[in-house]
Amino acid sequence: MDKRYTLPDLPYDYAALEPHYSARLLELHHDKHHAAYVAGANTTLEKLAEARQKDDFAAINQLQKNLAFHISGHVLHSLFWRNMSPHGGGEPERELAEAIKEWFGSAANLKNQLNEAALNVQGSGWGTLAWEPLGKRLVVEQVYDHQGNIGNGTVPLLVLDMWEHAYYLQYQNVKGEWVKAFWKIVNWEDVRQRLEKVRTLDLAL
Ligand code: FE
Repeated sequence: MDKRYTLPDLPYDYAALEPHYSARLLELHHDKHHAAYVAGANTTLEKLAEARQKDDFAAINQLQKNLAFHISGHVLHSLFWRNMSPHGGGEPERELAEAIKEWFGSAANLKNQLNEAALNVQGSGWGTLAWEPLGKRLVVEQVYDHQGNIGNGTVPLLVLDMWEHAYYLQYQNVKGEWVKAFWKIVNWEDVRQRLEKVRTLDLAL
């Protein structure tokens, strides 16, 4: 069985998120940037297998860092595509709306915190809404690169890419406009379904 990672197809056409996310930007982001993380994850795993075989771990620190970076990049981008929809926008509904109210007070509060976390990333990163399975609560996380500043065990449900490659072609330096556009294509139903699945996760702690 081939256990290598593969680039998932987008769940919609390149132009499906226009005008909020341009076809060319989506094409480059998926076909070039996401693809590079998939290739990076596979290459790193091959190098680690080789290191084990030769019992030569001279590059272990760099390899472990690359593994975290590329796998996390692959996970976050795979999720990001599904978190957007041509029929997105609006407000969270049903159990998701209730959970957001419980942990943030309101959807507006959540958006405010997530916007600030996302817009204030220093360098490259993400703003995310994640499930924290020990306390069984929703949290916002401010992710550095793809893998830094995350609580262990948290599961991302909604992710907002704040790398320049995610918006620069269309929004240039005005990243606040990108964040506003994201909320017009956000797929709350996808987030609701993810929350429903992950809620039963038990860390046995
Ligand atoms: Fe990206």
